[in-house]
Amino acid sequence: MRGFGMLKINSTGWIEAERPAIGPFDALLEPLALAPCTSDIHTVYEGAIGERHNLILGHEAVGRVVEVGREVRDFKPGDRVIVPAITPEWRAVRIQGCGVPACHSEGALSGWKFSNTKHGSFAEFFHVNDADMNLALLPEGMTLEQAVMLPDMVTTGIHGAELADISVGATVAVIGIGPVGLMAVVGAVLRGAARILAVGSRKKCADLAIRYGASEIINYKNGDIVDQVLEATNGIGVDNVIVAGGPPEVLAQAVNMVKAGGTIGNINYFGEGDTLPIPRTGWAYGMAHKSIHGGLTPGGRERMERMAALVMNRRFDPGLLVSHVFRGIDKISEALEMMHHKSEEVIKPVVIV
Ligand code: NAD
Ligand code: ZN
Repeated sequence: MRGFGMLKINSTGWIEAERPAIGPFDALLEPLALAPCTSDIHTVYEGAIGERHNLILGHEAVGRVVEVGREVRDFKPGDRVIVPAITPEWRAVRIQGCGVPACHSEGALSGWKFSNTKHGSFAEFFHVNDADMNLALLPEGMTLEQAVMLPDMVTTGIHGAELADISVGATVAVIGIGPVGLMAVVGAVLRGAARILAVGSRKKCADLAIRYGASEIINYKNGDIVDQVLEATNGIGVDNVIVAGGPPEVLAQAVNMVKAGGTIGNINYFGEGDTLPIPRTGWAYGMAHKSIHGGLTPGGRERMERMAALVMNRRFDPGLLVSHVFRGIDKISEALEMMHHKSEEVIKPVVIV
């Protein structure tokens, strides 16, 4: 089979690979809709997960089941399914002692398999482990564009709001409003935030942030965002911060803008440096009761079903994130390049296969 991937760091191309074999609990899928991710860019162009040779990329997919293993009960060939980016091994022994089994059942980040430890979904066929536990049926009436935002963008952004532990009536800052940050705005709304300060610079993203429920925009190109947030909150700061973009210094800014006792939820990938900055005085010398929770998005079937339920009950429309639609799997290279050299107009490209 043919797939599009990473030949080595800094180089992409089409790859010939064996059609994946499936075990008794697994499924073989063909893609219906695919989306490239900022993480694919980190993988190829920043060597985020180390050197990989001829690895097919892609972890955001809606697919059709082609074949299932003999122990798979709930899915059959022909079913249209949402495939989470994170597909834990739910039968792994270590899941029993794992605090966050939907991410780390076999060790840190082990639930992230596609385009990391096995070929991803930018291919004619792809393999899904533990199909009954990881796939979710595509609901009748949901568009492919909406559905392909669920495996990563929607669940990750909403997880930012969960990690930040937002309570009803809170004032929240969301740093970074690319697609993940925009879904973090949605997460903050769903958790009952009263006021949401969205930190971003691009007009298209800022407009969409307001549409999704942000109260105001803070432009990080107009000066220090801590000063701007403190000014907007009468010097008090915010109850919670979601970090969804930017270099390591944004973590220090988050600590400085959150109130004592507040919580920061980080879903951002930090690609530079050996350590991350926590400002000593901003953290009140270690005594501010400011918590930092950082997490990979949870995967698995129930998580996808819950994200789908939000959309089907019209809590928000993730289809608004889709700024560009390509047709045919050959276009995946173009869509990935679009993520690589993100122009003002790009939020999220999608390929309808
Ligand atoms: P993106 O690049 O589209 O969005 C990030 C945004 O942050 C951009 O719009 C950028 O302009 C903005 N930004 C840059 N510097 C900033 C600053 N100093 N202050 C405020 N904003 C700044 O990326 P995305 O697709 O929205 O993903 C966001 C991050 O989430 C990426 O690092 C990605 O790798 C990561 N991610 C994490 C998970 C997870 O499971 N935790 C899943 C998917 C993606
Ligand atoms: Zn992704």
